[in-house]
Amino acid sequence: MPVDLIKIYQALEHRYPRMSGWPGGQWPVGGQFKPERLEVVAGAILTQNTRWSNVERALQGLVEEGLVDATSIDSCSLSRLEGAIRPSGFFRQKAVRLKRAARLILDYPGEFYQQVGREELLSTEGIGPETADSILLYACEQPYFVVDAYTQRIFARYGLVGEGASYQVTQEFFQTNLPLDVGLYQRFHALIVEHAKQACRKTPLCDGCALQDQCQFGLKESKVR
Ligand code: SF4
Repeated sequence: MPVDLIKIYQALEHRYPRMSGWPGGQWPVGGQFKPERLEVVAGAILTQNTRWSNVERALQGLVEEGLVDATSIDSCSLSRLEGAIRPSGFFRQKAVRLKRAARLILDYPGEFYQQVGREELLSTEGIGPETADSILLYACEQPYFVVDAYTQRIFARYGLVGEGASYQVTQEFFQTNLPLDVGLYQRFHALIVEHAKQACRKTPLCDGCALQDQCQFGLKESKVR
């Protein structure tokens, strides 16, 4: 019987009604601030091994240096790029990765955001499944469910994915049990991130959690009390 992930999605949506999609929106686009596609690519690389608040500072650093398009990122000196993204941590490694991504976009024999495939992204050094799927889902609007440590934690506790399940197994679980819907995948992932920050933390706050009545871990916790 298919798992009712939509019910979980709805419970989270009810709890966090403002969460909708990619948490960017610092780069000016046409005079407005909203997530730009390259900002999503940069954010997906910068967020590797760090918290989002550091990514925001690094994205702002790119704005201040005028490095908000692929050509500028590709042509600027490595040291300038490193300086701009320093708050993200691992800034030397990430600067190289940003430059690689910019070159991939510039060299792409077609419209990158409409045509790039998952395998092409994964064959680029420094782009793993989570980074690739974040780019595909939020910048390219392709239906790939993004799996991160928060997703693994919440759904292992809930009892729907195994402890230590691989990225691929977890992704297949979501994609098999949800309709192929880009907007749904975007919002669901944003809700998972919010839930992991607000309630399902390393030490979970199960009392009053929106998922407690069905979550295996949460149910055990309530019986202990
Ligand atoms: S009940 Fe507890 S373990 Fe389960 S999802 Fe909520 S916070 Fe996490």
